[in-house]
Amino acid sequence: MHDTHKHQGKRRLLAQTLAEKGIVDKRVLLAMEQVPRHFFLDSSFEEHAYQDKAFPIGCDQTISHPYTVALQTQLMGLSPGDKVLEIGTGSGYQTAVLVHMKLQVYSIERQSILFKKAQLILPKMRLAPKKIIFGDGFLGYPDAAPYQGIIVTAGAPDVPKALMAQLAIGGKLVIPVGKGTQEMTVLTRVDEKSFERETHGQFAFVPMLAQKK
Ligand code: SAH
Repeated sequence: MHDTHKHQGKRRLLAQTLAEKGIVDKRVLLAMEQVPRHFFLDSSFEEHAYQDKAFPIGCDQTISHPYTVALQTQLMGLSPGDKVLEIGTGSGYQTAVLVHMKLQVYSIERQSILFKKAQLILPKMRLAPKKIIFGDGFLGYPDAAPYQGIIVTAGAPDVPKALMAQLAIGGKLVIPVGKGTQEMTVLTRVDEKSFERETHGQFAFVPMLAQKK
């Protein structure tokens, strides 16, 4: 697959749309403008890759809407060099956006087919994260904790305790919480014991599930 002027033009328009929808973080907008989303989709969706839509990526999963990717990333409020944990690598697109923003990225995927695909495509695009882990996101990845940001890209029944424990003081956990539809929830770790909670509207994610053995 190639990244043509046509793709680049469509991405510029997408970034403008995201700005109109309320994305203000310049680093997020730049990453959305520069990371070729069509590389992460089946070629049959290539033409539509820069619409603000979700698409199937196999294994009953979907790549999130660009607006959702941009909003969740913005809500973490990260700076270059920060360490971030992503739950649900999926296509690897959200991972690529985070790597592009010069973050130290750890990403966990529970399905081996998606895990293997992401392992191949991200280094090819020179957007390899620190590590992709084949495992259960409910457990997080304590080996690299604490994280300044944790982003969950599947709908969680509630906030996993392990993820709260792996958040740095001042860090933010961005997680869609609920069954059926989810409320975008941001937990900010104020100190060792306390968290502040805010919400940012309703979304529909595929469910977060225990690891498939
Ligand atoms: N960030 C992805 C979104 C993919 S959809 C993208 O941009 O494409 C959500 C992903 O979360 C799916 O790939 C699903 O397999 C994965 N997932 C669900 N439950 C999980 C868990 N407990 N641990 C790790 N990954 C999980």
